[in-house]
Amino acid sequence: MREQFLQVKNEALSLIIDADERKELEEIKIQFLGKKGKFTVLLKTISKLPLNVRPQLGVLANEVKTTIEEAFARRALELSRGAEEGDGAWFDVTLPGKKPKLGHLHPQTLVLDEIIDIFKSLGYQIADGPEIESDHYNFEMLNFPKDHPARDTQQTLNLKNLPDKEGQPLILRTHGSNMQGRIMEKVIPPCRVIYPGKVYRYEQTDASHGFEFWQVEGLALDKNITLTDLFGTFEYVLKQFFGQHTQVRFAAHNFPFTEPSTEVYVTCAVCRGKGCSFCKKSGWVEIAGAGMIHPNVLKAAGIDSKIWQGFAFGFGMSRMVTLKYQMDDLRLLTNPDLRILEQF
Ligand SMILES: [Zn+2]
Repeated sequence: MREQFLQVKNEALSLIIDADERKELEEIKIQFLGKKGKFTVLLKTISKLPLNVRPQLGVLANEVKTTIEEAFARRALELSRGAEEGDGAWFDVTLPGKKPKLGHLHPQTLVLDEIIDIFKSLGYQIADGPEIESDHYNFEMLNFPKDHPARDTQQTLNLKNLPDKEGQPLILRTHGSNMQGRIMEKVIPPCRVIYPGKVYRYEQTDASHGFEFWQVEGLALDKNITLTDLFGTFEYVLKQFFGQHTQVRFAAHNFPFTEPSTEVYVTCAVCRGKGCSFCKKSGWVEIAGAGMIHPNVLKAAGIDSKIWQGFAFGFGMSRMVTLKYQMDDLRLLTNPDLRILEQF
């Protein structure tokens, strides 16, 4: 008797699963649960059995019936969903459409676009160049001879398995100035160019250092260019970018590829010069390095320094982004967490 109930259950379930139409499903239901259905007939036989076995079989019969009814309901729902999604299914064309969620530009891209626009308004062109570079363009053309102590400050990442034509290992460029030599070799002065891009250093990452960061470097070549042209350009660009209230300060420095050289500071955008933890209470933030292009660099690119002069500069763009949006950690710029990115 027990086996008969289980057999009826299994037979019903396999037929229900295979049913492809509502009509077929209804017929199966009658075949098992109808007045003369297989299950109903079997159920009636319980009353003819001895009293002591009836309760156990009654429990089993109830379980079998519930299982079969649930299988019917589930399959009926599946078939009705299938009909809705199928060809020729009815749907309400007047319902509003689903709006796809739109992304937006990364704060780094927003800042880059703004800087490019400011330089374009001054007549600068935009150039792009390789991030994998030879020692020649990254160092030698920029007056960094081999064994020059300034190379130590550049924490260079060497690509040992990727040699250049002369067998020297290529490197990941340590500054955007690698483009300086490449551009000056090709152009006929006068020219004004900026070349934004990523640079790499062998650095331990922390709130203000990354092993990969953005710079916007550039140069201007012309006759009779002086240091005051450089000062004026920086004052204009930084006031356009941070606001007219911003003050700019220059401090003497030393770079092998410029002479004289300067570091450029702006009033801290967080505290407006009053002093805060971001600017280490000084009120000033270093934003760029610059200087008049060294005659040796002009010479290496085949340009006569007696006729042509120029200035070159490099903005720490990642620093500009963090300052503009008052972020206290550089690593937020490479964090893919949408909770951060949706704030811009
Ligand atoms: Zn400050």
